Amino acid sequence: MRVSQLFTKTLRETPAEADTASHQLLLRAGMIHQIATGVYAYLPLGWRSLRKLEQIVREEFDRIGSQELMMPALHPLELWEKSGRHHAMGQILFSVVDRRERKLFLGPTHEEVITELARHQVRSYRDLPQLLYQIQTKFRDEPRPRGGLLRVREFDMMDLYSFDSDWEALDVTYQKVKQAYQRIYDRCGLPTIMVEADSGAIGGKDSQEFMAITDTGEDQIIYCGACKYAANLEKARSVKPEVPREPPLPLEEVSTPGMKFIEEVSGFLRVPKSHTLKAVFYSADGEIVFVAIRGDLDVNEIKLKNALKCTELRLATEAEVAGAGLVAGSASPLGLSGIKTVADDSVTEGINFVAGANRPDYHVKNVNYPRDFKVDLMLDIASAQPGQGCPKCGQGLSITRGIEVGHIFKLGTLFSEKMGAFFLDQNGEQKPIVMGSYGVGIGRLLATVIERNHDDKGIIWPVSLAPYQVYLCGLGMDKPEVVAASDQLYADLQVRGVEVLFDDRTESAGVRFNDADLLGMPLRVVVSQRTLKTQSAELKWRSQSESQTLPLEGLAEKIAGMLK
Ligand code: ATP
Ligand code: MG
Repeated sequence: MRVSQLFTKTLRETPAEADTASHQLLLRAGMIHQIATGVYAYLPLGWRSLRKLEQIVREEFDRIGSQELMMPALHPLELWEKSGRHHAMGQILFSVVDRRERKLFLGPTHEEVITELARHQVRSYRDLPQLLYQIQTKFRDEPRPRGGLLRVREFDMMDLYSFDSDWEALDVTYQKVKQAYQRIYDRCGLPTIMVEADSGAIGGKDSQEFMAITDTGEDQIIYCGACKYAANLEKARSVKPEVPREPPLPLEEVSTPGMKFIEEVSGFLRVPKSHTLKAVFYSADGEIVFVAIRGDLDVNEIKLKNALKCTELRLATEAEVAGAGLVAGSASPLGLSGIKTVADDSVTEGINFVAGANRPDYHVKNVNYPRDFKVDLMLDIASAQPGQGCPKCGQGLSITRGIEVGHIFKLGTLFSEKMGAFFLDQNGEQKPIVMGSYGVGIGRLLATVIERNHDDKGIIWPVSLAPYQVYLCGLGMDKPEVVAASDQLYADLQVRGVEVLFDDRTESAGVRFNDADLLGMPLRVVVSQRTLKTQSAELKWRSQSESQTLPLEGLAEKIAGMLK
């Protein structure tokens, strides 16, 4: 492709709306264009990279024996009613109504559709195992699209689904898919770590995410440097700091004038925060829930949401709290009735907590569970924090940021049972198919590769994903000898299967080298009057600062070899 004919132009200025490196660079390089919030067009250069990534994904999934298919984006409501998942997905689902007033969803993921397909195709254990995948557009009405391709509302996902006859067979499949994922990320030159994940609205048993570590990542990852335990903060467990146990003392009301916050109360009464009981109120699908947790810990809303099995969880408003007869800042689990109460398991016997008195300006000392209050649910709902102990080996935990570039789930029989996907086993018995579900966000992965591979001048593509492998620059395109030599090299490279972006413009060297750096093709080749004096060309890898001069004779062959 000749740059003079390229549909897109590069941008010199950084677009104001772009906050992450990949967003800025994809826009400046003319690879994507925003059409609406979280909706992008892939321009020719961006589309070439995306297609290369898709090809890598296809090769790796075909290698483990999966079959590609294509499912529709329009899903009838009835299918989702079978799984019941449209409630849990909530507002993320895009829906449309057809001319006959029938409701359809734009697929955010395809477990429902694939289970419907398996229900019809799989009859007996002889039809298993099966691995099926597609690369297809998903629609999710994300509350906060951001970061260019990192979080969008319409995106291509590679989604793979596995069907096995039992859990042991699923384990084997799961390992195979994990290895395919690993090879995909390796071929993209992207290091990832695997972390324990929350299964979210999809549900299911085991679930792991592949995270690329970057400062711009939205996800927080808790990990242990000693034993390699790693989990998404949403799911992470930890050993909570221990608090010395004491014999329970009698309840005692104390005056705490004007004090509402744990910090104020613990300072005033001279007790550590870990000896206070924090009350937090939530609205869970419209019902007020009282949550009690030790004052030194914080509530993890994902854990709480899972514990309550609710769809919408948010902090309750002041009016809702007052309406429930509670006094914010001085609320207490003591004497509570008619309100669902959840406590973190840090609230155990013999700690003599300071808690609210449920009247303004007063707190109560020596509150103990279960002597003084009851709860409906008691489990771990605390956020793990760096510095706390690793749940596996006890060493200190650390925290970092990452971007989720892939997710794998063991769904088990969740969908097959609800949707009637059964098979006959060796004994002629009817059994639900054991399923797995696996997703890679293609556009997000591409953007993440840029997050990890760029400098202040532009993108640094790995050869595997670059829109073109070579940026050929003829310097002095008004000189016939430069035109002849660079045209010849352009043709010779193409004959050898090398993908070349040929900068045949007459702009200054400075402008064109800046574009070469911004676009980030792996190898820059310059032909100029100077290099032609020695019948040579100048080669420079985008990832290196040194250049080398090589004879034009046999150069195309040589470059083809260097790019292998
Ligand atoms: P997130 O937690 O980031 O919202 P998710 O857990 O909802 O993602 P999955 O349902 O696991 O996403 O989807 C599989 C993969 O699809 C993710 O690992 C991610 O790479 C990609 N993906 C999910 N949502 C988006 C989005 N809004 N934009 C781009 N890619 C996405
Ligand atoms: Mg996920």
